[in-house]
Amino acid sequence: MSNTKYIFVTGGVTSSLGKGIIASSLATLLQARGYSVTIQKLDPYINIDPGTLNPYEHGECYVTNDGAETDLDLGHYERFLNTATSQANNVTTGRIYKTVIEKERKGDYLGKTVQVIPHITDEIKRRIKILGNTGEFDIVITEIGGTVGDIEALPYIETVRQMRWELGEDCLVIHLTLIPYLTAAGELKTKPTQHSVKALQESGVQPDILVCRAEHELGDEMKRKLALFCNVKKDAVIEALDAESIYAVPILMHKEKLDEVTLRKLNLPTKNEPDLQHWRDFLSRLKYPEHEVEIGLVGKYVELKDSYKSISEALIHAGSVNQTQVKIRWIHSERLTPENIQRNLKDLDAILVAPGFGERGFEGKIATVQFARENNIPFLGICFGMQASVIEFARNVLGHKTANSSEIDPKTKYPVIDLMEEQKKVVNYGGTMRLGANDCQLRADSLAYKIYGQEIISERHRHRFEFNNKFLEKYEKNGMIATGTNPKTGLVEIVEIPSHPFFIGVQFHPEYKSTVAAPHPLFVHFVKAANLQSSSN
Ligand code: GLN
Repeated sequence: MSNTKYIFVTGGVTSSLGKGIIASSLATLLQARGYSVTIQKLDPYINIDPGTLNPYEHGECYVTNDGAETDLDLGHYERFLNTATSQANNVTTGRIYKTVIEKERKGDYLGKTVQVIPHITDEIKRRIKILGNTGEFDIVITEIGGTVGDIEALPYIETVRQMRWELGEDCLVIHLTLIPYLTAAGELKTKPTQHSVKALQESGVQPDILVCRAEHELGDEMKRKLALFCNVKKDAVIEALDAESIYAVPILMHKEKLDEVTLRKLNLPTKNEPDLQHWRDFLSRLKYPEHEVEIGLVGKYVELKDSYKSISEALIHAGSVNQTQVKIRWIHSERLTPENIQRNLKDLDAILVAPGFGERGFEGKIATVQFARENNIPFLGICFGMQASVIEFARNVLGHKTANSSEIDPKTKYPVIDLMEEQKKVVNYGGTMRLGANDCQLRADSLAYKIYGQEIISERHRHRFEFNNKFLEKYEKNGMIATGTNPKTGLVEIVEIPSHPFFIGVQFHPEYKSTVAAPHPLFVHFVKAANLQSSSN
């Protein structure tokens, strides 16, 4: 294919309409027609990346292979497309300004006044084109965060205007909007969409396609009206009804011909129908499960489920493989005490202790591990969850009652989890953890090896503390084994208790790598273990 095509996805009327899911679904359809596609997210906030944001603010921080801390939408991109993203796929206003200001300090602007237009917009444009210029992609989809009309998104919208003008038919704008239903009037309303398209037009951007989120069918008449008022062709008014699962959206968008209209507008052939067989199989296994399990997810951010997005999606993927409906019992670690643990964790088929930072709720995580270990309930501890399992073992099996992580108690006599050597000199918080993909070597006689079926695996990390190898011998003598280690540094990445039916703690984040096409083996086997547990419950 000759030129890279650029598609922009903007949002109107309200946030949380699912731009990420629409972008991912379109990309999935284009990929299934044989195009190579990537998706990028531009975020209008000033933080350099979401790594320093509290999950309550912005949900989960997603980590890429190259160690970028990114927006959770990148997780959707990877889960739908089964291809890796990188730092280039997520850019914030903070990062744009930082680059421009650093250039200014170096004197690169040769005495010129540095301005939003053209300097900031040029930098945004450069960041968008980085992906296209790799030559790897036929199509680059760029999702603009926020809602049209937001002051902070203006430079992005202006960049879209310029690129639309410069690229002509190699560029396309999709506007995702809401058609609310007024119960009292018994009617769908188009006015908010008219206004948001007008706001876009005032910035010089004419959308080519409208994707309309609605709770009821739009019908022909309403599509005609939207087309007329918003200057788009009627067949480019796409209805997006609420779906039973995010994974059903590509199928719905195909029915609505979003992929066909997109290709036609980009002057690309539409002959090849997308091959969606594996996608349909995945969905039908989800829709018609043969088993049901309940898994407890113990964390301190459970009020905002987006904080654990990749974990809950990985459990869905694993559920599909096992034809199992995975119900999650969201459990607040801060409310768990040894006294109420039995009541809160009763009848669970498996328990997952989530990643996290800091003291709040940590003792609840430790009490959870003890419950799972002593009652032989399948257990998966991720990052902080793995660290909790190591501390619990020290306290209740090795007899070191005051054992802790030096993150929680810097003066502990038994720092079984300790700050990593290279972290000791770190002063800044942003982007300074151990981040991104690392190799891990598995012991051949381990559960982990059985699960992965290979000796060397690669998984993504995001942490400052680690298992303290000074204590390793004592652990292994008493039944907790290090079954995965970093081949270069000797850091412990996986612990297991072989006498337990399924007890595994991982220092890395397997959830980031689970996709529809390749559900993660750890989650697949965890759900399998939950199934076994449920048949004996
Ligand atoms: N707080 C722990 C550390 O920094 C675990 C981090 C995590 O769970 N992502 O090592």
